[in-house]
Amino acid sequence: MAVLTGARVVTPSGVLDDGWVQVDASTGLIGQVGRGEPPAGERLALSGWLLPGFIDVHVHGGGGHDFTASANDLAGGIAFHRRHGTTGTVVSLMAGPIDAMCEQLGWVSELARAGAVLGAHLEGPFLAPGRCGAQNPAHLLAPDLPMLGKLLDAGQGAVRTITVAPELDGAGALIGEAAAAGVIAAVGHTTATYEQAMAGFVAGASLATHLFNAMGPIGQRAPGPAVAALDTGAYLELINDGVHVHESLVRLTARLAPDRLVLITDSISAAGMTDGHYRLGDRDVHVTDGRARLAPGGQLAGSTLTMAAAVRHAVDGVGLPIELAAAAAATNPAALLGLSSERGAIASGLRADLVLLDDRLTVGKVMVGGSWI
Ligand SMILES: [Zn+2]
Repeated sequence: MAVLTGARVVTPSGVLDDGWVQVDASTGLIGQVGRGEPPAGERLALSGWLLPGFIDVHVHGGGGHDFTASANDLAGGIAFHRRHGTTGTVVSLMAGPIDAMCEQLGWVSELARAGAVLGAHLEGPFLAPGRCGAQNPAHLLAPDLPMLGKLLDAGQGAVRTITVAPELDGAGALIGEAAAAGVIAAVGHTTATYEQAMAGFVAGASLATHLFNAMGPIGQRAPGPAVAALDTGAYLELINDGVHVHESLVRLTARLAPDRLVLITDSISAAGMTDGHYRLGDRDVHVTDGRARLAPGGQLAGSTLTMAAAVRHAVDGVGLPIELAAAAAATNPAALLGLSSERGAIASGLRADLVLLDDRLTVGKVMVGGSWI
């Protein structure tokens, strides 16, 4: 077995300075993990921080590739984010014509069967027109069980999450149907009150889509969906780019729910690219200083984050301990998806998906299933 030595290893039980990690290349799994004198084996000396591979449960593209443009762009965008430390991806699909969404689900399900992605996130079409963000309102639909069935069938088991506005007529039944089918329902793109959002969680939703964004603000007598999500046991997606959410709210969420915070990129094709014009689904987006906005319109249209940049900002900008940032980028999303026994932490018996960060928290090396890429 190969032994990785010399790095500060970020594990669920804390950071192991001068830690070591055994990797079994034949199985692609982590062997033992420890600190101090490493066991016998072919040693690879590293320096910096060794984190579990990131799991991004909400992402639309990157490296110039919009996931919905073509099967090739989907694969290209996944590869871009893999180079930036994302070793598990749930592919987000925007609200679009149903036939187009079904075709895109076909691409995702093929990659899921090959083990290249963890599945699909349907960000629509059952969203509130008043909080549709960058989504095209022309493609939004009222909750519709046969339509949900058609989308789930097109995904052939690959649909993992669906964002629903819980205040829409029929949303409760749709959330219940999704949950019964093993799909994680997420509250988001919503004009819901606290009570309406809470009804969505009671109906079976267990995730909030980009908490604080595309939902009403927090008022002292109208706390809104964000507080409902914090108040229940739901997992909480956050776009931690310093643009979408104030750092104090990221700190507060991490303090209130360290085991439920899930960093996402929500990034679009412009991630890793220069400022300029891009497409997000069928929408035009202009990126200035790394901020993506609809053109025309001006609404924030996803981000240009990578998961590594989100982790770096969590530590350097927000002030979270690196082990909490690693949990939010890998361990918690794995738990959300029910994959904790397989991935999401540096621990014996889990997949050897690893990210090596240097002292400035930029990506040095990425290992997927026991092999460096
Ligand atoms: Zn999104």
